[in-house]
Amino acid sequence: MTGRPAALFPLFAEVETLPGIGAKTAKNLENLGITRPRDVLFTLPQALVDRRPVASLREVVPPLICTLKVEVISHHASRNRSGPTRVLVRDGDGVDFALVFFHARGDYLQKILPVGECRLVSGKLELFDNTVQMVHPDHILPLDEADQLPRFEPVYPLTAGITQKVMAKASEGALARLPELAEWIDPALKVREKWPDWAVALRAAHRPETQADTVPMAPARLRLAYDELFAHQMTLALARREARHPKGRVTKGSGALARKVLASLPFKPTGAQFRASQEIAADMAEPRRMNRLLQGDVGAGKTLVAFLALMNAVEAGGQGVLMAPTEILARQHYEGLADLAAAAGVHMAVLTGRDKGAERAKKLADLVEGRIQILLGTHAVFQKDVFFQDLRLVIIDEQHRFGVNQRQELGAKGDMADVLVMTATPIPRSLALAQYGDMDVSLLDEKPPGRQPVQTALVSTTRISEVVEHLKKAVAEGRQAYWVCPLVEESERVDLASAQERFIALRAALGEGVVGLVHGQLPPSEKDAAMADFVAGRTRVLVATTVIEVGVNVPNASIMVIERAETFGLAQLHQLRGRVGRGAAKSTCLMLYQAPLSEGGERRLAILRDSEDGFRIAEEDLAIRGAGDVIGTAQSGLPRFRIADLEHQAGLMALAQQDARLLLEKDPGLESPRGQAARALLWLTEQDRAIRLIEVG
Ligand code: ADP
Ligand code: MG
Repeated sequence: MTGRPAALFPLFAEVETLPGIGAKTAKNLENLGITRPRDVLFTLPQALVDRRPVASLREVVPPLICTLKVEVISHHASRNRSGPTRVLVRDGDGVDFALVFFHARGDYLQKILPVGECRLVSGKLELFDNTVQMVHPDHILPLDEADQLPRFEPVYPLTAGITQKVMAKASEGALARLPELAEWIDPALKVREKWPDWAVALRAAHRPETQADTVPMAPARLRLAYDELFAHQMTLALARREARHPKGRVTKGSGALARKVLASLPFKPTGAQFRASQEIAADMAEPRRMNRLLQGDVGAGKTLVAFLALMNAVEAGGQGVLMAPTEILARQHYEGLADLAAAAGVHMAVLTGRDKGAERAKKLADLVEGRIQILLGTHAVFQKDVFFQDLRLVIIDEQHRFGVNQRQELGAKGDMADVLVMTATPIPRSLALAQYGDMDVSLLDEKPPGRQPVQTALVSTTRISEVVEHLKKAVAEGRQAYWVCPLVEESERVDLASAQERFIALRAALGEGVVGLVHGQLPPSEKDAAMADFVAGRTRVLVATTVIEVGVNVPNASIMVIERAETFGLAQLHQLRGRVGRGAAKSTCLMLYQAPLSEGGERRLAILRDSEDGFRIAEEDLAIRGAGDVIGTAQSGLPRFRIADLEHQAGLMALAQQDARLLLEKDPGLESPRGQAARALLWLTEQDRAIRLIEVG
């Protein structure tokens, strides 16, 4: 591939080459992410103003933007100097109204509105003191220039120093240089969706004629959004192809260790666990590198699936590593899996940042010589001096916060090792595709049987003493509870409950020794001790910050109290609630909120109260908050789209993924006419990474 197609050059010129844009305007446009004519094209109007003339005032109800032919009757300067000048005009029915100008020079107004002549005026008609007036009309034109006024005026997003006129002129200028490009969309799809050609779509999007042309479902907009998503999915598909290129190894287990593990379990795997394990085993047995996402709601049983995959690696004579996001989780995995490892006769160890000195050196030696077969840990397992004898499988638990690039870096640690990423954050399908489109996905869509639903209630903080009374009774009955507080130190944000203070208050109410405390600022050894006390049942109530959010498993805990629930994200609340309802006992989740709740806040919490389906909650969350917020955009590696709107154009992403994968299967080098066209799209959408991948391949 020889570089950007020449046909695209005009769209990648300096933005100053567009009409009406000088250096200062160009600088201001940067705030809209516009630095080239291409960016102008991809910045679509959000609405439109109807500038078609009406015959008389009778046809409209102010306030409204309208366009009228008027006769100029008289000018009336204000008596005091700072007041407005009023120009009396007459509509087609002979009804008079005023055009109002502040700080206008009289002679200038006389010139553009000469008494006795007719003009076309367009602007917002308003009622003021029961009379109709138009303050500072947007347009005033002699009748012989009336056709200069567009019938429909697009409304663009603006920033300081940029007006609608600048945007309209720039976009017309950019539209004038649209090159002829061959079609990259699958012809059948285009026909089926009734999508216009690319250039036609751009013109339609920038020159809307009805409000319907400015909504996300307008065909032109759908097409342009699709282009953007298709280009993105091409990149992911190319990255995926690259990642699964021959460089993998065949890791085929005998199933012997897995059988021992299953025999020692007190339960049977769910169908979904079985299916996911099979998919993973089959993928590992392929001579290419596995790049797979295991997605399952909290409590779906991802750990077992991970462990069985690790058994595969060991059966094949290799090693596996499971990385957790926190120390607590790494250790908990270790404790939870120790019996299974023993049953299988597999050597397992845990390595975290806390390992130091001789102990750490011994572990590293055991790893490199293969005496440790399975390593659990935090990101410490990826430190430079950690070497494996034969690492075949890397599992990353709960790492929804990683972007595409970071995941690939982690995979690079084990030379050609298979990679499995696990996430309990149920992300809506459209987002999952945006974020993980380069991966294969296994879904745990079934929970282990016998789980009791968690009863969820919203309770105002004014009733906190009642809640404590209930807690007292529950503890007396042998139950355990989490009490989650938003922040640790009172000083960080005065209005948020402090875990420390809550701990002291609960200890006073429930008794010494019954209540534990764990938060992120505790020294590691104290954190561990507090967790261990709670797991063993020595403490009955664990006051915690969100460190317990991901993955912690204490089946006997059946009460979850979340203080200031309205300050948490829905996904986070769902995760927290997932900590209970894991044992046989009936579980409760109390979401304490500070009244009054905002309408949005109430809606969000109500969703959680009414549903335990992580995917449904995620969809609703998306609908309420928008894509960027659901998984913090910058953090998540989720791309920003200029045109595509993942909330309102949800189906497009899946379509784009299918299409991108299919095209690359049929035409791996993008050599066919359609492949060539798709290359132009990649240049156009600046999918640099994709372009590099084709150039290499
Ligand atoms: P998550 O998917 O949230 O990581 P875990 O792997 O921690 O879930 O599993 C949650 C709990 O469910 C654990 O106590 C685990 O032992 C149990 N579990 C896992 N699979 C099954 C199953 N098939 N039947 C019954 N309990 C199961
Ligand atoms: Mg887990």
